[in-house]
Amino acid sequence: AQLRAKFGTYYDKIPMVWFWGKIWLRTKSRRSPLDQEKLGYFNGSFQVIVDALVDACEAAGVRLVRSGLSRISQGEGSTWVAHDESDSTSTHVDAMLATVPSHIFQKLAPALPPGYVAKLDALVYEAAVVAILELDRPLSDVYWLNIADDDLPFTAVIEHTNFVSAEKYQGKHFVYLSKYMEPDHPWFTMRSDDVIAAYLPHLTKINPAFESSWIQNWWVFRERAAQPITPMQYSERMPEHRTPLKNLYLANTTQIYPEDRGTNYSVRLGNDIARMIIGALGEESGEAP
Ligand SMILES: Cc1cc2nc3c(=O)[nH]c(=O)nc-3n(C[C@H](O)[C@H](O)[C@H](O)COP(=O)(O)OP(=O)(O)OC[C@H]3O[C@@H](n4cnc5c(N)ncnc54)[C@H](O)[C@@H]3O)c2cc1C
Repeated sequence: AQLRAKFGTYYDKIPMVWFWGKIWLRTKSRRSPLDQEKLGYFNGSFQVIVDALVDACEAAGVRLVRSGLSRISQGEGSTWVAHDESDSTSTHVDAMLATVPSHIFQKLAPALPPGYVAKLDALVYEAAVVAILELDRPLSDVYWLNIADDDLPFTAVIEHTNFVSAEKYQGKHFVYLSKYMEPDHPWFTMRSDDVIAAYLPHLTKINPAFESSWIQNWWVFRERAAQPITPMQYSERMPEHRTPLKNLYLANTTQIYPEDRGTNYSVRLGNDIARMIIGALGEESGEAP
């Protein structure tokens, strides 16, 4: 049921190394097998870290361009050019690292060799719809409830304020309802208020006393590239970080394997790729990295 919840119709294609990794990750946070697992949370969410990183980069003189890209192109020699959404501003760089999902990378990048494109295409993503409810009281006393019942339209009910006290949120209670699905699933494009309306009757299965008047606010978020589906023997087909085009690199969640993608691994990946690029540029200029 858990594999179906996360991987939808691909549930029987998932190598057991994924499942092992998930169990191992949780188990190793316990001092003994009978202990509770240890979970951490950044007060104020990951946004606190993102804001601190932005401040640190700006203080170090990094120029941050807060615009999406429409395309990237090769500049003089083996340099690269990033073109903004309106294609009116371009930024020239010695090396380009793309951290967007693979299907977006293929649209942004110039003709990539077919062998590399085949590797990018070897992996598909599940999409996700996530609803967040702000309640004036708790829904239940459970923090993380995985749902194996196909009759419910969501596959996890995570009551954040059963982990981090509601006192930190002026007494508000937050419940996160998640659902992974194929990107062409009707739920993915359903209007947000229809998603909420469809979810509400099912919340009484979690707490029979639940009433919609408890909801003070709600939000619905969607992510097209939520969960990479790694097939068997994926390690042999995983796209390399160093693309066949000189000084063009890729680092995204499809290159985290065999672990399940997660923020920790993306930070690890960022450090690894930064070292790789600094090393390569150092070799080019003849300087030690
Ligand atoms: C529903 C859900 C729940 C999750 N839960 C957890 C969890 O509990 N713990 C955990 O550790 N991880 C969790 N993850 C995974 C975590 O979010 C990812 O591992 C992490 O965000 C990957 O970081 P990234 O920088 O590689 O990609 P992303 O965070 O996806 O960043 C890619 C960025 O590229 C940007 N982009 C796209 N197109 C363009 C363009 N044309 N130009 C410029 N920018 C563009 C996007 O806007 C996005 O900001 C969850 C993910 C999902 C979807």
